Amino acid sequence: DSNCEKFEYQAEVNRLMDLIVHSLYSNKEVFLRELVSNASDALDKLRYLSVTEPDLLRDGVDLDVRIQADKDNGIVTITDSGIGMTKQELVDSLGTIAHSGTAKFLKALKESQEAGKDSNLIGQFGVGFYSAFLVADKVIVSTKSPKSDKQYVWEGEANSSSYTIREETDPEKLLPRGTRLTLFLKHEDKGFAHPEKIQKLVKNYSQFVSFPIYTWQEKGHTKEVEVDEDPTEAKKEGDDGTTEEKKKKTKTVIEKYWDWELTNETQPIWLRNPKEVTTQEYNEFYRKTFNEYLDPLASSHFTTEGEVEFRSILFVPSVKKEDLIDSKTKNIRLYVKRVFISDDFDGELFPRYLSFVKGVVDSNDLPLNVSREILQESRIVRIMRKRLVRKAFDMILGISLSENRDDYDRFWENFGKFLKLGCMEDKENHKRLAPLLRFFSNQSENELISLDEYVENMKPEQKDIYYVAADSVTSAKNAPFLERLTEKEYEVLFLVDPMDEVAIQNLKSYKEKNFVDISKEDLDLGDKNEEKEKEIKQEFSKTCDWIKKRLGDKVARVDISHRLSSSPCVLVSGKFGWSANMERLMRAQTM
Ligand code: ADP
Ligand code: MG
Repeated sequence: DSNCEKFEYQAEVNRLMDLIVHSLYSNKEVFLRELVSNASDALDKLRYLSVTEPDLLRDGVDLDVRIQADKDNGIVTITDSGIGMTKQELVDSLGTIAHSGTAKFLKALKESQEAGKDSNLIGQFGVGFYSAFLVADKVIVSTKSPKSDKQYVWEGEANSSSYTIREETDPEKLLPRGTRLTLFLKHEDKGFAHPEKIQKLVKNYSQFVSFPIYTWQEKGHTKEVEVDEDPTEAKKEGDDGTTEEKKKKTKTVIEKYWDWELTNETQPIWLRNPKEVTTQEYNEFYRKTFNEYLDPLASSHFTTEGEVEFRSILFVPSVKKEDLIDSKTKNIRLYVKRVFISDDFDGELFPRYLSFVKGVVDSNDLPLNVSREILQESRIVRIMRKRLVRKAFDMILGISLSENRDDYDRFWENFGKFLKLGCMEDKENHKRLAPLLRFFSNQSENELISLDEYVENMKPEQKDIYYVAADSVTSAKNAPFLERLTEKEYEVLFLVDPMDEVAIQNLKSYKEKNFVDISKEDLDLGDKNEEKEKEIKQEFSKTCDWIKKRLGDKVARVDISHRLSSSPCVLVSGKFGWSANMERLMRAQTM
């Protein structure tokens, strides 16, 4: 066929295809989730672009997905009326690895295989379009972009390093717009080509897709049909002069036919009344929307009205994905009047340190053609951001108030660093951040405490909040500066994470009590006896001079201390100098 061009896959695709075909046997059914999510993305793209280019909808305004299963031939087709692909887009999208998620999948797979683990990675990551080859040995993609006047057909097979593209010539197969995937199922996977099976999978995996998904189902309706009467009876009744009709008998039969059946719930969950949505539904929405494995730790569903109107559901994940702060996260899905706009605007809606929060935000006040530039300038977005941040804090506070202390410990372990970063980056929210911090102390070495618990535990005469920075609880415990405070039964926070001290220094105080580093030389415990000190100073001044001479430049000064009770001497930081811990940090950074 001269119309048919052959292409080679990018090397990574070959590798991925090989894995899919030969090694991934569990959880094959996710193919449907992946393909429906592509259809939904294509519809989202079209809906979004048509706001400014209404002409894109000239070939029909219906935006939907239709799935048909042919069990006799083991074929599943998935048709969407979305944006479709031009020939070049076909080459770019279905011959190369289009998204970084797939590359990450490969990396994670390699790591887990090296570690000898068999985690269910495909369920967690998905491998996008290529997951079609989990169940199919041949896939045909026929697609028509509104930007092109031709429809193209991509064809690939499971055990081949190449695919073909040709123009669609069969008039019966022409689409007004969009994409039709035809999956020729492998012998052992033909079971997926059952309408009931497809319906079940759609309900399970694509319940929260915001476009209608129809599946081709056999239906039956009852019908009254006339049946021939028993001739002898007819005669009998005919005698008493009743009408013809009365004599006829009817029978109820079930008439079978095939039709499209709406299979998903298209009302977005965030538009529903929070009182009517169960935790179960939120969790499921979260897992499906963000491709998560575990339920979230907390969620918050709210509507704001007045100056700015929007609806949102926010979630705190229960685990942290690696390199979260710096990698481009897709945590917040922004909608305008239910139209999906982008999942790339996190930075505009949330400060960086809250980038672990996931959710959807649907605004009625933003323009549909909103861009990053518009978001950055917008007063509305500034108000939204403020509200979203507050709600995020309320949600986190909620976890900390949970009866189950483990929940917050888990949160803190995963996301504590982010809140410490917040102490540095967001002065405005210090009041909200501080109560969420947790520390060990000389009175609580195994269980983290909050600043509120610290304050409650303060001695009546105690004015400040004491802390000591060290690289572990053990070394903090042995700090000589602690002795006097321990004697007085003062609680001292142990700042054992390098970021703790920076966070505390940014906060400066909590509930009008200053944070005081007990290793600084001017520590005043309010119990000085000046007379006695003067005496002792004089008595030992020669000793001090002698030690200073011996140590030379290694120390700035040698002095008599009133801070020790059993240790003979201690090295302290100068009042204006770095603490020992900060010095360690600085050294680590310059190395
Ligand atoms: P991802 O969806 O993460 O981008 P996929 O492997 O699932 O990765 O899909 C690759 C690309 O193929 C998509 O980004 C999109 O450009 C294109 N594509 C896949 N399915 C469709 C479809 N039904 N309609 C239009 N484009 C599609
Ligand atoms: Mg995809």
